Amino acid sequence: MKDDCLFCKIVAGEIPSDKVYEDGTCIAFNDISPQAPTHILVVPREHFDSLDTATVAQKATLGHLLLSSAEIARERGIAEDGYRVVINTNADGGQTVFHLHVHLLGGRPFVFPPG
Ligand code: 5GP
Ligand code: ZN
Repeated sequence: MKDDCLFCKIVAGEIPSDKVYEDGTCIAFNDISPQAPTHILVVPREHFDSLDTATVAQKATLGHLLLSSAEIARERGIAEDGYRVVINTNADGGQTVFHLHVHLLGGRPFVFPPG
């Protein structure tokens, strides 16, 4: 746990969240500022800053986050219509919370490329 990290505090239960899924590796909760009818953050329990600093040591965790996102999408009934998973990375990628997380967005169509 990183002391000044918002998502570490959510993982630890020190800050409340609207949790939708959890297992030994990750937790998932609704984004506080949803950008789509479904907007869930899938967050590893382990702190690492971003995809940019991830190493092979996080390989299994990264795969787990993607497979968990797909499972949550199926459970929420958005998989058939489609959804988007996003990992914003560093400043130009739009990352604001430096504890790596996957955005799972669905319930509406998305354009590509994103803005
Ligand atoms: P990033 O910009 O780093 O990719 O994504 C951070 C996300 O965390 C944003 O979508 C933002 O709305 C969300 N967020 C920031 N603070 C909180 C919070 O306290 N609780 C929840 N549930 N989401 C948060
Ligand atoms: Zn953290």
